Amino acid sequence: MQRLSARQRRCLDAMAIQVWEARATAADTRPSRESAAPEDTRGGEEHRGNWRPLQQQVQECVRCELSKTRTHTVFGAGNESADWMFVGEAPGAEEDRQGLPFVGRAGRLLTAMIGALGMSREEVYIANVLKCRPPNNRDPMGAEVRECESYLHQQVAHVRPKIIVALGRFAAQSLVKTTRPIGKLRNQVFQFEASEIPLIVTYHPAYLLRNPLDKRKAWQDLCLARRILDSA
Ligand code: SF4
Repeated sequence: MQRLSARQRRCLDAMAIQVWEARATAADTRPSRESAAPEDTRGGEEHRGNWRPLQQQVQECVRCELSKTRTHTVFGAGNESADWMFVGEAPGAEEDRQGLPFVGRAGRLLTAMIGALGMSREEVYIANVLKCRPPNNRDPMGAEVRECESYLHQQVAHVRPKIIVALGRFAAQSLVKTTRPIGKLRNQVFQFEASEIPLIVTYHPAYLLRNPLDKRKAWQDLCLARRILDSA
């Protein structure tokens, strides 16, 4: 990974992660991604033709029982042509209230994780496997995932990210189609469904808030994702 910028170091501090860096070399003086404008190489608005109708469809969706208990659907947020796509499990209480993904403490940690990679939240796309909150934050049920997953697939098809980061056990198992524990899914490169989009697995920010010692592992996962994207 290239030399860290001041903002990346601040974000790592916010994650309570200390990173030792080699001294700067001439090659490290190139502009960091922090200052680079997000690049849309995927044909502007054309590929997003069905985005608004898709949002509308999710907003009105009653395919599963979660439609009865939700306050708002949580479609996703961010750059619709992002290179990076982060996928969590499902909205929590605050997300359900605001209709936005990853708000609150876990959201702030995710923002710091993204910042540590040298990006802002607006440069990436953030979504969940489920678009409605399971009551009392219980685990999503298989039937709910089967009903909802086509929305995520359509989002991936529109955004066409260069890498997907699955956040947490449930998102990882849903996207990789496995029941293996998250510890066995980290440090590997999967492909999202039949696409060639690489997918890596890391911990959910809410888990990291409860288990701060694992933040370092999450940082290693993000560095792996960065290396994959840089070598593509
Ligand atoms: S969770 Fe998904 S499938 Fe279920 S009602 Fe919400 S949007 Fe529809």
